[in-house]
Amino acid sequence: MVQSLVNTSELLEDRDDLTTPAGLLAWAEAADLPCPARPTQADLTRVRRFREALRQLLGGTPGGVPALNGELARTGTRPLLQAGPHVEFAGDDATALDTAITRVLAAVITAGLDGSLRRLKTCAAEDCRWAFYDRSPNVVSRWCETSVCGARHKMRAYRARQAAGATA
Ligand SMILES: [Zn+2]
Repeated sequence: MVQSLVNTSELLEDRDDLTTPAGLLAWAEAADLPCPARPTQADLTRVRRFREALRQLLGGTPGGVPALNGELARTGTRPLLQAGPHVEFAGDDATALDTAITRVLAAVITAGLDGSLRRLKTCAAEDCRWAFYDRSPNVVSRWCETSVCGARHKMRAYRARQAAGATA
């Protein structure tokens, strides 16, 4: 859910799905999240700001942290103990968008607590920053495997090997 939100924008392809109400509705439906029936420009701006704050968080930079904590406060996202026992994260759910953002925040918090959040990263290529899940044993992957970026990194690695071979 977090990855799909961050990747609604593909910098390498100059694509952003969240510039229109239809785009936001399509993402929310695909992610099985509630959405206002008629998203406003303010809704779109809010979600894009939230998305970019998440991208910064996954990229390991602190810039997005205040915006994310601002959304935690705005949506009232907090842990609730339930019988079972288990813990859920609930919010004030004032609007459909509040509920959607609460659920994404809950996923981020849960992943942060169970350690899987460190595997969800953004590509180190400045012009890419695609969100990907690092399955490498030591969590050392730096670049994504998208068609454009992955091919570029393969070419870079190939040239590096060729250069190493030429000097060997
Ligand atoms: Zn990339």
